[in-house]
Order: sequence, then structure tokens, then C-alpha cells
Amino acid sequence: MRVRLLHTFIFLLGVFFLHAQKLRKADKEIIANLQKHVSYLADDQLEGRRAGTNGETLAMNYISKEFGQIGLLPKGADGFFQAFDINDGKKINDDSYFSINKKELNKETDYFPFAFSANTTVEAQPALSLQESDMPWFLNLKEILEENKDNPHFDLDEFIRTKSIEAQKKGATAFIVYNTSAIDDKLHFEEKDRTETMKIPVLYVTKDPAKKYFKDVAATLDIKIKTSIGEKKRIGHNVAGYIDNNAANTVIIGAHFDHLGYGEDGSSLLRTGEHLIHNGADDNASGTAALIELARLLKNSKIRNTNFLFIAFSGEELGLFGSKYFVENPTINLQSVNYMINMDMVGRFSDSTHALTVGGYGTSPAWSNTIAASNPKSFFVVKVDSSGTGPSDHTSFYRKDIPVLFFFTGLHSDYHRPTDDADKINYTGEYRVVRYINDIVTNLSKQNQKLAFTKTRETQTTSSARFSVTLGIMPDYTFTGTGVRCDGISEGKAAQKAGLQTGDIIVQLGGNNITSLENYMQALGKFKKGDKTKVKFKRGNDTVEADVQF
Ligand SMILES: [Zn+2]
Repeated sequence: MRVRLLHTFIFLLGVFFLHAQKLRKADKEIIANLQKHVSYLADDQLEGRRAGTNGETLAMNYISKEFGQIGLLPKGADGFFQAFDINDGKKINDDSYFSINKKELNKETDYFPFAFSANTTVEAQPALSLQESDMPWFLNLKEILEENKDNPHFDLDEFIRTKSIEAQKKGATAFIVYNTSAIDDKLHFEEKDRTETMKIPVLYVTKDPAKKYFKDVAATLDIKIKTSIGEKKRIGHNVAGYIDNNAANTVIIGAHFDHLGYGEDGSSLLRTGEHLIHNGADDNASGTAALIELARLLKNSKIRNTNFLFIAFSGEELGLFGSKYFVENPTINLQSVNYMINMDMVGRFSDSTHALTVGGYGTSPAWSNTIAASNPKSFFVVKVDSSGTGPSDHTSFYRKDIPVLFFFTGLHSDYHRPTDDADKINYTGEYRVVRYINDIVTNLSKQNQKLAFTKTRETQTTSSARFSVTLGIMPDYTFTGTGVRCDGISEGKAAQKAGLQTGDIIVQLGGNNITSLENYMQALGKFKKGDKTKVKFKRGNDTVEADVQF
């Protein structure tokens, strides 16, 4: 009994000593810096740092200024910055034009060309009710809508597409759709549409102009059309700073600095529809702050046997756009990269559980010792995840066969909501995470070896309540072609059993044409566990069909 009391007493003493460990001046400075960085990056002024916006510009300038003051060398494509395109779908260019009987229609209110329209001009005097070759054809949706008003599976977009392809085949020079029924067709210009472009313009005319011009079905109309559909683009920017120790290998440390803005890109968890700034203090101003302070620590360290590259990625919230762009357009030789450490949400450390998730544990045999040996008196309750993939930027480096580690203090109720604010960050807890990573890097540099890489299982990154089954693929969020490109295939899942491989482009699932991630997810929602169907995919120039069971 007594012995046990003594042990408990010694243990409590140890915990107290640890907690009461007097923070040195230098440590307090780091904590103050972390707070300064997070407060600035999560300020309303930066409007949630959405990629390609003014908020991103303010953030990237702040980060590059800090990198410069620490003495890092610029290692972007243009100084510290590396710009990359973000394809935001399609848009109607201003030079689009449509007139009926010499009256121009307004492209905001009176009509819109479907996103899959050809970019061309047509002038003709067709009869509304005739479907002659070499003439524009018209389609009133009234009948089909009334026929299917109680049919939840009726896909109007698919119907219009099929009808326009038929008309095109039969020689129509344009296809003009309208709706005189009382049913709301909810048709709108679909920015994210990635269906194959037609050879003719396909337009939708809204109710009022339709009533005005298409009332008399025997009428002949004077039609002038110019359709001009363009790509909507934003420019994102990675920020990269370098410590050149003239060494053979380089360690990459990264964190994304972009966030959701006002939630425009659809990954906000706010369900009220309000237009609010998502400040992203934990996601991921915390990781960005840790990145800056690690750069300062390592710049002032005695380590000389490795170079360091610090990268603040943008476009992560859109699907790892920035890190994917970097590994495809690296500013250093990727072969010389020893390993990559990623920090995403390290600001909400729990002082009660001391839980810290470390992902990528299985991507090098070197990790297990280092992670344990660097954990000060087991301060952290480390939860390891062996997979090299996951919902953050280390995945892009793992896919290039680079050992990775991912640090994360855990989810919370403010995740992807406007309430993820700077006053909820545990700065001392974050400082301890920074110290831990600094110790891991320092200990590894003492071993002075290039780490071996090991492949791991791929974790499913897309989780949504909208569907109960998955194929077991990792979609490529940056793919802008028609279909869904596979960036990775999960072990033992339906896709692997069906023979799908990384790089394949899924174009059909059962009876559903797959043109984009959106309708891929909709199609998945139609299947349940055990269902059998066919998947069609493109591999190079071949189109392959395979049986698949969920
Ligand atoms: Zn994040």
C-alpha cells in the first residue's frame, strides 16, 4: 500500500513539475508570436482567406514578410510566391448575344446559354413549330415536366442534353428551350457543368420572354445568337521560403493558409445560409503560425546537414490544389526531399486529454522511434494513423513516395464554421506542438540519414452523408475534364476489385453519365450496400467497362 502511495506521489510530482515547468523568455516569445500570427490571419479584415481573393493576398504578403524577416530565401516561382490557376468552372462571356425579332434579350434575366453550348453564331428565321434541318429548333418543356411532376428520378438536365444531341444529329443549328408550364424547372447556368461541349448553341429562355415571343406557335422568328462560354479562373498562391545549408537533402515543412472565405465553395458546415466570414483560426491559421515559428527556430538552430523548405499552401480547402501544384511544379528537386511534415489544425490542443494525432506513421520505418523518443516524458498522448493520405496537403507528397508526418490536435464544433476564432486557440498547447516537431526534426538531423519510404493503405478522404456506399477511389479535385479522375484507389474496396487504377477517368456508373464530382456523388447516392452494377472508365484512349459490387 505504502509503496503504491509513494509511486502516486512521485507521479503527481512529475506531472506538476512538467506543467509548472517555468516557460523561459524565449518560449514566451514563441507563444506571443503564435498569437500575433493567428490574430492577424484570422482577423475579419482577411475575410476568411479564400484562395484567389484579397484575403489570400493579405495573408500571403504577411507570411512572406515574416519569412523575409527570419532570413529565409525566396523559393517560389516568383520570389516567395508560386502562382497557380484555380479553375472555377464556366462563365458566360460578355460578348454573348441573343435577339428575337431584333429585340436583344438580357443574359442575366431573359435567357442563358447552357454551359455545354458551342461557342458560335447563328442567324436564321425559323418557324417556331417546325424542326427543319439547318434551322434553330425550339422545345417547350411543358409536356415533359407535367408528365414527370411526380417522378423524383426524372433528370431534366439529362433530358435537355439528350434532346439537344438528337436535334444536333438531325441538323438543327441551335436548340432553344423554354417552359410555359406552371412548374418551376429550376434551370440555371451550371458553372460546374463539365459535360462534353456540343457543336450547336443550346439556350434556355425564361418565362416572361417565352410568353412574349413563343405564344404564337405558328410564328416565324428572326433569331440572332452568339454564344461565348469561357473558363472562370482564380489565381492561388503558395508561399515558399528556404534555408540553404548547401546539404544534399531537404526537409519540407508545410501548412495551408487558405480557408473558406464566406463559405462560397460549399464546404462550410454552417447550415443557416448566412453570408458570414469563416475566420479559420484553427483551420489553419494555427498551422501557418506554427510554420513561421518553426522556420525561426530552425533558422537559429545549429542544424547544417539538411536544407529546409517551408511552404504555406493555398487552395487546400478546394482539394489540395496548392500542394498538388507544388509537387507537379517543384522549385527544388523532389528526389532530394528527405521527408515532409504537415500541420493542419494544431491550435485546439486539449490540456485535459493531451491528445495529438500523428498521421503518416507508416510512411517510413524511422517514424516510430523518433515519435516516441521526441515526446517529452510522454507529455503527448499520441494517436497514430499509419496512412500517408488524408484530408490535407501531406497527401500530395506521399503520392510522390516521400515519407510524411501530419500533426492535428483534433476536430471540434467550430470546424468549418464562422466561430473558428482566434480567442479559442490554446497558444501554449500549440507552442508545445511546435517544440515537439522541432525536437523530431532535430533528432532526425542527428541521425543524418535519408529516410526509407514505405507505402501505406489509402484512407478514404471523401466522407458524405449523401451516400451510403463508396467505390473506394480518391477523386482528383483539380481535374477539369469530363468525368472523375482517380488520384488513388483504396485497398480491398469495390473499385480495386473492379480493376480501376490511379489515373482512370470514370465516365459512367450504372445508368448515370458521370461528368463531374457533383454528379458522381449524386450517382453514388442511388446505390446501397450489395448492389451490383457496371462502371465505365477511360484509361488512356481506351474506354473500359467492368462489373462492380458495392
Ligand atoms: Zn485545414
